[in-house]
Amino acid sequence: MPTSDVIIIGGGIVGAASAFFCAQAGLRVTLLEKRKALGLLTTSASLAAFRAQFAEAENIAMMRESISFFENVRERTKLDDADIGIVQQGYLFCTTNPQVPARMKARVEFQHAHGLTDVELWDGDETRKHFPFISDDVVGATFRAQDGWLSPNDLTNVYARAAVRDGAQIFYETFVTDLMLSGGHVRGAQTNREQFYAPLVILAAGPYAKKFAARYEWNLPITLLRRQHAAIKEHALIPPHAPMTIDADTGAHWRPEARGAILAVNTDEPEGEPSDNIQPDWEFPALALDAVIRITPFWENVAEHLRKGDLDVRAGQYDMTPDAKPILDEHPHLRGFFVHCGYSGHGVMGSAAGARMLADLMTGKMKRDENAFGMARFEKMDVGALEKMVL
Ligand SMILES: Cc1cc2nc3c(=O)[nH]c(=O)nc-3n(C[C@H](O)[C@H](O)[C@H](O)COP(=O)(O)OP(=O)(O)OC[C@H]3O[C@@H](n4cnc5c(N)ncnc54)[C@H](O)[C@@H]3O)c2cc1C
Repeated sequence: MPTSDVIIIGGGIVGAASAFFCAQAGLRVTLLEKRKALGLLTTSASLAAFRAQFAEAENIAMMRESISFFENVRERTKLDDADIGIVQQGYLFCTTNPQVPARMKARVEFQHAHGLTDVELWDGDETRKHFPFISDDVVGATFRAQDGWLSPNDLTNVYARAAVRDGAQIFYETFVTDLMLSGGHVRGAQTNREQFYAPLVILAAGPYAKKFAARYEWNLPITLLRRQHAAIKEHALIPPHAPMTIDADTGAHWRPEARGAILAVNTDEPEGEPSDNIQPDWEFPALALDAVIRITPFWENVAEHLRKGDLDVRAGQYDMTPDAKPILDEHPHLRGFFVHCGYSGHGVMGSAAGARMLADLMTGKMKRDENAFGMARFEKMDVGALEKMVL
């Protein structure tokens, strides 16, 4: 009958980060993962990128905190050999639309006012001066050199290793079937193996969180959407020192990966059901290649010479909330039942700050009304009026 202070359901990057920060806060942690290893579901489908260039104060703060953690991961985890494969070659948002630079300017001013003073605003010529492969059609861009990417599986394992060093226990092939409850409180989790006892439970089950929470009359406003990325193993024309390069007008993006690249574009998808087996489309690489040619025309030459064996394609699910921000909160009636999910495509980059905030919320260090990522925000929200932002 294993007993701890907190049970975490799910060993993706969000569950592993939660384990680390809860252990840091002095809680005895049990992490339950249904698969044979950590990070095998959405986390391993990720493009693994991180940026602080956001349009809302709480997102900027969250990602700055996470990026600082990534940059200082050895000191922060006290693991001298921690290697998360961090690459900081920047994020470049480009537009060909003459009306967009004015919006970019306002956004950069907002970012500067919120402490993100290293975001640069460039016209088309300045952009090409820094990155000559950018199309002559690009008329404006924003750039932040400290944005970048990392290895999400290495980061997941670093969080987990540091948590275990601090006393956490991880159980694999352990599928949580139910919560154990009494008198409006969580008492633990029932699994396919045995019962685990704890007065606190964090639901970090990625795409499965909504369905699991619904069984306890907790309606999380999450929509699951399939997202894919194409990987090109190697090609001499791909500039290895390029930033994450985003077409701000369409959302298509790519970044170098070793001597190859990873590309993505959003496709229209119906709302999905949670699944461990999200199938990619083999047509997707062609779609993504077509989409990135607009702002980076060298891709046309790359595409001409590619064979199927040069390509890989992966798919996973975004757990989208109405404002594309995560949910960190406690069940309204079941004391001790917390969620940590809904990252809407930003769970790698948000994992460190989100998990730190959740640990603070659970231990009383953060007050409920200080939590910008609670469910209360959805009550006030005019979802229809939310700007759909590609930037
Ligand atoms: C194509 C694509 C590109 C992306 N690119 C980026 C990016 O560039 N940057 C970024 O920050 N984010 C990106 N994301 C999003 C990011 O991958 C996710 O936000 C993040 O991985 C979510 O992590 P998670 O731990 O919540 O979920 P998951 O990684 O899905 O982990 C959930 C875990 O819970 C386990 N589980 C579920 N139910 C149970 C149960 N009942 N009992 C036990 N275990 C259970 C699962 O087995 C799984 O291991 C991308 C996502 C996709 C699909």
